Amino acid sequence: MSKINPAPKNPSGSNPLLGPAQALECISAELTKACKVAGRGGGVTITAVSKKHKVETILPALEAGHRTFGENRVQEAMEKWPSLKDKYAGIKLHLIGPLQSNKAKEAVALFDVIETLDRPKLARVIGDEIQKQGRNPVLLVQINTGAEPQKAGILPEDVDRFMGQCQSEYGLTIAGMMCIPPIHEAPAPHFALLHKLANRYGLQTISMGMSADYKIAAKLGASHVRIGSAIFGARG
Ligand SMILES: *Cc1c(COP(=O)(O)O)cnc(C)c1O
Repeated sequence: MSKINPAPKNPSGSNPLLGPAQALECISAELTKACKVAGRGGGVTITAVSKKHKVETILPALEAGHRTFGENRVQEAMEKWPSLKDKYAGIKLHLIGPLQSNKAKEAVALFDVIETLDRPKLARVIGDEIQKQGRNPVLLVQINTGAEPQKAGILPEDVDRFMGQCQSEYGLTIAGMMCIPPIHEAPAPHFALLHKLANRYGLQTISMGMSADYKIAAKLGASHVRIGSAIFGARG
């Protein structure tokens, strides 16, 4: 007789032994609850982060009807997503990793949301590609809320200037902001800061929170949480 052991839990409380579809359901219920506790409306979209996972691992989420996904590398996304986009209507693919200017053409062609607009040169190149391709990805500005020297993103004190530049020099419409808090700090102050900055510009799209802290992010006003391992398990 085999004994049934309780499955191990990851730090977020989600169970990696659940399939992606069940994990998405659990997380979605937790997000609804977190919003209710915080007294906020609006709902939270789960960006299922499928980086480093094979198509066969992603398929159950698509089959269950999930449509919002995140990848951090242009090259990897180009190998996996064009055929999936043909097969499943309504996919929203988010770029959540750093974008090199020389990959902007491919990124504008493939992604529906670019979350990592983080410097003037990239804003210019993306603006040029939008003109050329007639494609209009939703753009988020990445904010370096912890002012970490090694991390990408606009410093909080430079946000005003950059937002102005995007609009007046590069003709870009910015829809929202994203952040990745410092790894060894409590995330809540960073989420609160991002929410405050986005509010200052009337921006509705706020991408913050990952597997370990999505409930906190939801309470503090995230419109999108980027969740990888709690949905698809550990990355190889
Ligand atoms: C990988 C990644 C995530 C997802 O991380 P998990 O801890 O697996 O949920 C979220 N955001 C960004 C920018 C990432 O690169």
